[in-house]
Amino acid sequence: MTFQPPPPGAYEALMQFMYQAPIGLVQTTLDGDIVMINPMSAQLLMPLSPCGNLLNLFDVLSPLAPNLRELAAGAAPPGQVVCDRWRLALPDAQRRPGMPNALNLHLLRLDDTHLMATLSDATLDVQREQQAIAAQLHAATREDRLTAMPNRTALVERIDRELGRQQDEAGHGFAVVLFNADRFERINLMLGKPIGDAVLRLMASRILSVAHALQPGSAWTARLGGDEFAVVLGETSASLLAERTLEALARPYLIGDLEVHLTASAGATTASHSEQSAEELLQDATLAMQDAKMSGGSRYRAFDASMRECAQRRAIVEADLRQALAEGQLFVVYQPIIDLRTQALAGAEALVRWRHPERGIVPPIEFIEVAEATGLIGLLGEWMLNESCRQLVEWQRTLGALAPGYVSVNLSRAQITEPLIVDAVARALAMTGLPPASLQLEVTESLAAQGDGIRSRLVELKSLGLTLALDDFGTGYSSLASLHEMPIDVIKIDRSFVMDAVSSAHHRVLIDAVVMVARSLGMRTVAEGIETAEQQALLSRLECDRGQGYFISRPLAANDAGAWFAARREELELID
Ligand code: C2E
Ligand code: MG
Ligand code: MG
Repeated sequence: MTFQPPPPGAYEALMQFMYQAPIGLVQTTLDGDIVMINPMSAQLLMPLSPCGNLLNLFDVLSPLAPNLRELAAGAAPPGQVVCDRWRLALPDAQRRPGMPNALNLHLLRLDDTHLMATLSDATLDVQREQQAIAAQLHAATREDRLTAMPNRTALVERIDRELGRQQDEAGHGFAVVLFNADRFERINLMLGKPIGDAVLRLMASRILSVAHALQPGSAWTARLGGDEFAVVLGETSASLLAERTLEALARPYLIGDLEVHLTASAGATTASHSEQSAEELLQDATLAMQDAKMSGGSRYRAFDASMRECAQRRAIVEADLRQALAEGQLFVVYQPIIDLRTQALAGAEALVRWRHPERGIVPPIEFIEVAEATGLIGLLGEWMLNESCRQLVEWQRTLGALAPGYVSVNLSRAQITEPLIVDAVARALAMTGLPPASLQLEVTESLAAQGDGIRSRLVELKSLGLTLALDDFGTGYSSLASLHEMPIDVIKIDRSFVMDAVSSAHHRVLIDAVVMVARSLGMRTVAEGIETAEQQALLSRLECDRGQGYFISRPLAANDAGAWFAARREELELID
């Protein structure tokens, strides 16, 4: 191909072309001195050169590309690219509205003496890239990493949209159902976090598949964090979804060779009016879920307004109880326990009471549960232990042989599951100087029947030298046949049996059986809640070892209890 000289007028045409080109073209010397520049280049470079001086390209660009001059000097053969599509962004201070704030630069060694630069406006490209990054970030902040489900933020947005729809479309109803595994921390603790994560992923996929099978395309799932999941769906399907999902979640989870078992609880709420906020709806569903858990877990509850009142009451009790502990409003009452054969004093059960500044004396049933739910039971229980042990030591000192042989202190579930309980009991004994054999701890039947962890905790406690009693026997799940597996010394037969014993042969047979099995295992029996002489005589005939109840004595404040103990032997001598 031979070079064709430009036809007449072509030079002007070329100049015109350069003049109007929508891209910046600059020709410079090897050192950057501008030889030719078209208007687009001037327009793009002007914001970089506030004094309007466009003499040297490298000088103008130096704030954005300080090493351009060296790079260009190093580019040897003509035709070599010095830099290819560099993105040069203007510092914020130099940005002006309507002016480019980012440039694309391409620099080429043209021949032995010249460089050729092309410049274009990259403002839109930068904007598009930033939007893409923002969209990715937005998606990432709305996705749960572990399960790839939408997260809590996304859930709140989704509920907000549903609430908006409810405002626009009459009759649009929806429900939020929350799922939470029962005692999931056990899995992380015992099997490790990787197994816990694997279980969570499987839970997510089960929830997803139940939801989609029930409402294809419209049910929407999310993970709120931890072991908590949510489904948003049409309001009429909430209970069906909850039941099916709970069933699905209770199936064993196969992870490698491991088979993990768990149950979950569910709470649901339906949006009743559009003035509710997403957070309020989530709170209601959470209250329903907590109610399901407090009723024993592995069940579903729909929200009703009384749950909110209950929660508010609990919060008030919690705050008051903290104050009670700090200000010494708690005190202990002691209920005498007698030997049913000799009628002599055997021991005393310590029961907590609260002298509330406004409500008067509050019974434990109104605050033990709150103390358990809020973790205050640890402090309360430790205080009870110390105070009861201290009191018995004092009675031993002042009453001598007339003092009760032991004090029996109730432990609640939350205390037993806490490993530090063993230290706390040992400390109470050491600090007060009470001989361990003078301390009895009462645990409820349902608790003692549970897993190996609890059993070994009870064995540890027993090894301190104290005795263990199984409280409220007959109300829980354990059977006579399983008694021999429990590390206990005393069985307390629940008041409900004692109450009916006089009128019901069935109850008499049951008590008889408990007494016989206990005796065969070397355990003692205590009848709780003896309210009449007839009941006491009957229990004595059934050879129950000990008894306590209003007929013998109501629980008494320490001073009154001391006086009762002191008078007991004299009373018995008078009876004789
Ligand atoms: P519990 O351990 O079974 O205690 C016996 C309860 O029966 C006591 O109620 C006692 O006052 C009551 N009672 C005793 N004799 C009779 C009777 O003849 N008739 C009737 N109707 N009731 C009788 P209280 O003191 O209200 O305690 C209730 C429950 O609260 C206790 O049941 C125990 O589970 C729990 N509790 C009490 N104090 C503590 C404590 O310090 N720590 C823990 N964790 N729980 C406690
Ligand atoms: Mg008790
Ligand atoms: Mg009891």
